[in-house]
Amino acid sequence: MCSPQVILAAIGAQDQQVCRCHQAVPARHSAPEAGARTAGRPAADGHASHDHAHRGASAAEAREAAEADASAAPGRSATSRRTALRAAVAGALGLAGTAVLAASPAAAAPAPADPPAPSDYPESVPDMLRRGGRRIVDLTHPLSADFPVFQFYVRKPEQRQVMFEDVMGFNSAEWTFNEHAGTHMDVPAHSEAGLATADEIRLEDLVAPLVVVRIADRAERENTTELTVDDLRAWEREHGRIPEGAFVAMDSGWYRRVDDAEAFLQFDRAAEVMRFPGVSVEAAEFLIAERDIVGFGTDTTSLDVGTRVEPLTHRTLLTTGRYGLENLAALDEVPERGATLIVGVPKLRGGFGAPVRAMAFL
Ligand SMILES: [Zn+2]
Repeated sequence: MCSPQVILAAIGAQDQQVCRCHQAVPARHSAPEAGARTAGRPAADGHASHDHAHRGASAAEAREAAEADASAAPGRSATSRRTALRAAVAGALGLAGTAVLAASPAAAAPAPADPPAPSDYPESVPDMLRRGGRRIVDLTHPLSADFPVFQFYVRKPEQRQVMFEDVMGFNSAEWTFNEHAGTHMDVPAHSEAGLATADEIRLEDLVAPLVVVRIADRAERENTTELTVDDLRAWEREHGRIPEGAFVAMDSGWYRRVDDAEAFLQFDRAAEVMRFPGVSVEAAEFLIAERDIVGFGTDTTSLDVGTRVEPLTHRTLLTTGRYGLENLAALDEVPERGATLIVGVPKLRGGFGAPVRAMAFL
């Protein structure tokens, strides 16, 4: 059974001696498996006899005591039973106060008088969304071990659960993933040391007019096609000049292949290249020098076309202090002009890239 010492050591990430039985348990599990994992109980899978030889009252013992207490009080709701269980586990952990784990709401306070209705506030974005007519499109793929990665150097993401709700009252996992897995940002330092890292991207650059340039028809026929200056000029003839400070996204239709790594990456082992579309160096130069964009992105796994060697579109963009987004999703649900890109990116100090949640506000 897991003792408080083991669990606190795991929380501090100083010690990896988390219960081996729990390491072996998948992140998602059925109820019968969860029952079998309950430490200290007879179980068919042999876990019942394991003993980590830690001293002191264990969380599982506290859990059993709380369960006995709960079952002796008929009529108590599942919620109060759970609260009692969490309090008992917190006690076993020696935590000062049980607020960390307890889920009980604060005592009800007398209802305050209604404040006056605001009359001069501009309509908020949430109000617009509730009222309809505006919406948000998620441009982000879920990140998981199945995500097709740029396998020359990016390893598959891993999730390892270290805390289990049925024992401790909460779940927690450690993730291992490359900055450049899934829908993510390439920051300037990715191409050149000393330039901006993930924590140094300006907030003002994370909200931008979103320009979507579609080349999906051509990409379907030609898997190593590039977004060109001609494509950008054609877009401008139809929609007007690309605004200063815009973010330009290449919609090659590639995101729909993401569940098929073979089709998404088209890795040619003999030639040591992948085959997927990207942005041309000339288009990058045009967008930077002539349109002063904040960045551009692709729905493929790279800013560069899969077969490119040198010069790199990556370097052309990133060394000017701008950022790129890769593995964008659902660009075909966004109009070619008029949406606003919103990017959430963690402040990874010194990061050469980072996973993002990218959204288009319509
Ligand atoms: Zn990248």
